[in-house]
Order: sequence, then C-alpha cells, then structure tokens
Amino acid sequence: MKVAVIGAGLAGSEVAYKIAQAGYKVDLYEMRPEKQTPAHKTPYFAEIVCSNSFGSESLTSGAGLLKKEMEILGSIILDVAKEFKVPAGQAFAVDREKFSKRLTEILENHPNINVIRQEVKTLPDADIIVIATGPLTSEEFSKEIQKITGSEYLYFYDAIAPVVDASTVDFSKGFWADRYGKGTGDYFNCVLSKQEYEIFYQELLKGEQVPLKDFERAVYFEGCLPIEEIARRGKETLLYGPMKPVGLIDPKTGKRPYAVVQLRKENIEGTLLSLVGFQTKLKYPEQKRIFSLIPALKDAEFVKLGSIHRNTFIQSQKLLKPTLQLREKPNILFAGQITGVEGYMASAATGIIAGINVVRMLEGKEPVIPPKTTMIGGLINYITTAKNELQPMGPNYALLPELEEKIKGKEERKLKKAEIALKDIKEWIKEIESAVFI
Ligand SMILES: Cc1cc2nc3c(=O)[nH]c(=O)nc-3n(C[C@H](O)[C@H](O)[C@H](O)COP(=O)(O)OP(=O)(O)OC[C@H]3O[C@@H](n4cnc5c(N)ncnc54)[C@H](O)[C@@H]3O)c2cc1C
Repeated sequence: MKVAVIGAGLAGSEVAYKIAQAGYKVDLYEMRPEKQTPAHKTPYFAEIVCSNSFGSESLTSGAGLLKKEMEILGSIILDVAKEFKVPAGQAFAVDREKFSKRLTEILENHPNINVIRQEVKTLPDADIIVIATGPLTSEEFSKEIQKITGSEYLYFYDAIAPVVDASTVDFSKGFWADRYGKGTGDYFNCVLSKQEYEIFYQELLKGEQVPLKDFERAVYFEGCLPIEEIARRGKETLLYGPMKPVGLIDPKTGKRPYAVVQLRKENIEGTLLSLVGFQTKLKYPEQKRIFSLIPALKDAEFVKLGSIHRNTFIQSQKLLKPTLQLREKPNILFAGQITGVEGYMASAATGIIAGINVVRMLEGKEPVIPPKTTMIGGLINYITTAKNELQPMGPNYALLPELEEKIKGKEERKLKKAEIALKDIKEWIKEIESAVFI
C-alpha cells in the first residue's frame, strides 16, 4: 500500500518516522525551500518558527505531562531535541537551527522515507494520506482541503477568547442564565457594577497589545474585532457588544446587571469556560491582569489566553474520528495544528498518534484512540467533541476528567492526574501490540 504524508513539520516528521521505523515505505512531501510560508525561513523539517521553547518540564503543567507521555510513546522530535537542549530554567528550550538540521538528516537518510520537495496542490496518488500542512498551509492546497472537508469547516484565522478552568471561577459573583431565558443554561454571567465596569474599561484601554505580523493584517476586515478595539470606539460600546446585559436578570437583586461577561462551556464535561466575545491581541500578562478585574475571575486560572492569528485549521469536532481519520474518508488522516490543537508539542503529539494509526491500518488492524485520562487523549477528545465552534487548544489539566477521590490542593490534584495518565499510557501501549513499538 502506498502512503503519503504531506508537510514535514512538527507533526508530519513524527508521522513519517513512526511509519518508517515500523518497516513501511512512506512518501514525505515538503514544499520548502522551493516555496516558503510567511513564517518559515529554512529548508529544514520541523522548523521552530517563533519561541525556541517546547514549554515547561514540570509535571504540574499540561505541557510537562504531554512531553512525558510523548517520551513513552517514542517521539523523534523529543529525542533529537534532547541532543540540542539549551538551559532555560523549568522550560525545555532547544537550539532551533541544530535541532531542525539534525532531524532533517535523520529523515532524509532513512531508507523507508522518500522525501519529495514540492508543494502539494491536489491529493497525491496514495492509499493512505496524512495531511499535516500546519497553520500556514499553502493557499492552493487549502482549496483542495476545502473540497474534501466542505469550505465551511476550514478556518483561516483563529480569533481566540481566553479560557478558564471552571473549578477556579467564583460562581458566587454571577449567575447561570441564557438571554431572555432561551437556551440550555450553558452561560455563566459574571456581574460587574458600574464602578467595576469603569475600572475594567480604563485598564483595557491602557493594556499593551501584541503587534500584528504583516501577513495577519487582513484579519480585522473579517469582523472579529479584538475586545480592546471595541472599547476604543467609546465608553459604552462594550455595553452594547460582548458585555451587554440585555435579557438577563440577576436572581440575587431581581434587576438587570450593569454589565456582564458571559462564560460558555467549551467542552461537554464543562471543565473549560471561555469568555464569550473576548478575542484579544493584548499581551498575555496584561490579559491576566485586566481580566482578573472581573469579580468572578479574580482568582481564575487561565488555561488559555486570547489571541488573533493566521491559522489554518479544520472543525475537527464535525470532521474527524478520535483516531484522527476523516469520518467520511477514513483513508485520509489529519495531524498537527491543522486539527485544532495548538503549539509545537501538541502538534507533534497528534503526529505520533496518526503515525501509530497508519501503521495499524497497514497491519490490517483497527486504528486506536488514546485514553481520555492522558494529556494526548484529552486533547484529541477535546478537538473531536468540542461544543460550539472549535477554538484551538494546547495541553492543560482541565482537559482531563475529574478525579474520583477528593484531593486537597491544586498541585496535588494535578500530580494525581499525572500519575493516572502515565500509568494509563503505558498500559495502552501494552494493549496495542504493533510493530510501531518494536
Ligand atoms: C507566526 C507563528 C508563531 C508561532 N509561535 C509559536 C510558539 O512560540 N510556540 C509554539 O508552541 N507554537 C507556535 N506556533 C505554532 C507552531 O508553529 C505550530 O504549533 C507547529 O509548527 C505546528 O506543527 P505542524 O506540523 O502542524 O505544522 P508546521 O510545523 O507548520 O509544518 C507544516 C509543514 O507543511 C509544509 N506545507 C504547507 N503546505 C504545504 C503543501 N501544500 N505542500 C507541501 N508542504 C506544505 C510547511 O512548509 C511546513 O513545513 C506559531 C505559529 C506561527 C504561524
């Protein structure tokens, strides 16, 4: 059977390596250097386009647990990165140039990997195809993906609102209700008095923003204005926009609040809540400072901060099975940031799972799904079952199921979840008897 992987980024490199190491031939397509993306600069595979950090190594961070799971699953990205690690405190940082160069040598010299340096515009002739073309998928190929998925399910920008861990919200400072009582009670309304609103508004105006990159400027014409831009249009504008209180009565006072910030469930479990309409370009520390002025969010843990980026990604909750296969065409798989995960490590991790499943398909076995109790399983569960529109997501502990036993202390709870995740990922590997782990 002929196998093609499109895109030799963080995800595509993992996919191709898993397939090749299991003894199967694979064509790996990469358009660089013939055609660059607006962010990549080199001809190397898995180029690190921005920060050279792979995130925290601490087990109490989602990124730390994800890396431990990836080590257990056998990650070529992490193996090579370890050779070129640079000191960065708790973070795992790499010498980006040496890392990517070495990885490229390994893949290019692998007897089972046939590297094809060309832009893919239409699906290549192969029995199994993995699409891993990333957040900056070429324009031509995006059109082809739209044909496969339906144009309404491929997004070109993410306008992300911050997401908080529901267990850290002060629910005494607001109430659950849908506007005009219509809906399914999925909104929590954080209440602000006139004075609280005015302080919040002033700080929002002062907040420092991240500058937009040239290739990102078009986004503002697409109707997803950052919250601070709405605020700049006048003191009352937010009260007619995302902070409007119409159709809402606070059961404590029997009156309409002065202003509200609505929190909406992001996953079926309701452990993640997003700030509705709060997409923003504020710098991360500024977001934490300013959004913590909302009384219900005073001590909230932000598992994700807001951003507006150029980002090509599919609505996986509508399109993908949790095996990363397309529901309608299971011989096509997606991996990497294009699935709606976010960041270097989450992208590479989905590449490992896609690689495992391609090998399973080649072995004539059923593709598999990692346990939801693991960080990689939690991420895949999120992207394939998200409520509403899919907002890209990186690793965090709110993706994992609540513990059955009561444990005091946030850090202690995370460590218990990590213990379960690492036990479950090891057991899962034992269950999957496959050449991929030989
Ligand atoms: C400007 C910017 C800054 C970022 N900063 C960070 C950060 O600081 N930290 C972080 O964790 N993440 C960051 N990210 C996200 C990170 O880059 C991605 O999470 C990660 O690279 C995704 O891996 P991937 O394999 O899905 O895609 P990529 O690594 O982008 O790989 C996709 C590959 O496909 C190739 N390709 C695209 N189209 C075609 C085609 N038609 N034919 C053949 N090849 C094709 C590309 O050249 C590329 O090599 C940033 C992204 C951008 C755009």
